[in-house]
Amino acid sequence: MPDTVTTFAPGRVEILGNHTDYNLGFVLSAAIHLGVTVRSNRLSKNILEISSQTNQRSVTIRLDELQPCVDEAWANYPIGVIKVLLEAGFQLGGMDIRISSDLPLGAGLSSSAALEVATALAAKVLFNLDIEMMQLAQLCQKAENEFVGVQSGLLDQASSVFGRVHRLILLDFLAIKVETVSLPTNVSLLLLNSGVPHELTGGEYNERRKQCLLAAKSLGVASLRDVTPALVKSADLDDVIRRRALHITEENERVVQGVDALRSGNLALFGALMFASHESSRTNFENSTAHLDTLVELAKRTPGVFGSRLTGGGFGGSTVSLIDSAQADEIIRTISREYRSIVGATCYPILTTPSEGARVLA
Ligand code: ADP
Ligand code: MG
Repeated sequence: MPDTVTTFAPGRVEILGNHTDYNLGFVLSAAIHLGVTVRSNRLSKNILEISSQTNQRSVTIRLDELQPCVDEAWANYPIGVIKVLLEAGFQLGGMDIRISSDLPLGAGLSSSAALEVATALAAKVLFNLDIEMMQLAQLCQKAENEFVGVQSGLLDQASSVFGRVHRLILLDFLAIKVETVSLPTNVSLLLLNSGVPHELTGGEYNERRKQCLLAAKSLGVASLRDVTPALVKSADLDDVIRRRALHITEENERVVQGVDALRSGNLALFGALMFASHESSRTNFENSTAHLDTLVELAKRTPGVFGSRLTGGGFGGSTVSLIDSAQADEIIRTISREYRSIVGATCYPILTTPSEGARVLA
């Protein structure tokens, strides 16, 4: 077993399939080039020494006393990961966890999952844990759900784990299966942060989850994966609940259609599905904001943009656009200028391409 390891886990962007992960549906996502790096050594004492260059904070905690930190909430992500690994029966000892990152926090790119996955991968390597990568992703999700207390779906961790260069990740959250689909090398992903932070620890995300559960229950199925948009339309549901269920079921169909579009090289169709996804977020799921709507509208009228939509939980955060790489500079200039003149705020661009998932650096 090595004494020391450096791991990297990327952020992720959801390309199609919004809020479908916890509804046991389909998502197309990509890992991006930015992420969290963890440098870690095995320690002789049974403690975790956790520090982050990003926030200049550090925490030391005994392995037999892993409790959530109230004052250092950021440390609960790595602590939670170690705790769930131990609870799952994996044998590990003391380690230091030195965190650095080039991923913006709270921007909807899932720095939390990147931190969890980089931590788990470091533990796997240092203590030679016999753990499959999907299980690793699931345990990281469990840490976020149960230890940190954020009810996020498996999308974030699975995307950080299974990213591939120039391929989108197709995740099936019912079968818990993953495959990848090729994206042409002449297109890029443009992420535009609306400048309004998302607030997933707020009530909106959990409220949407409850509404989706209620929709499934009212329809007499285990999850919204089991119903079609046609069935939702014909059912006797409360108007809000029906629109939530329509969003999820139509998103599942869009992911399936999107994969076909990519396989037949039809980027125009793929882009149209992205615009349709955003429209459904705006009207049916009501997880968009005026700022995100403006970014998507601007993208729609900018040459070289195939499609654009909000990405992630919504209620702020970023949009993702599929664009012609050769026109990227002009597209960023145009949209940024017009966004500033319309809303008086700055949008922050990240230009990326689908990248490799979590890995050992050294
Ligand atoms: P997102 O996952 O979209 O970036 P979250 O609110 O889910 O937003 O997770 C962000 C939180 O994750 C931060 O507030 C912090 O607690 C933790 N975190 C992520 N990256 C780091 C880092 N490099 N150093 C310390 N904490 C981090
Ligand atoms: Mg997160």
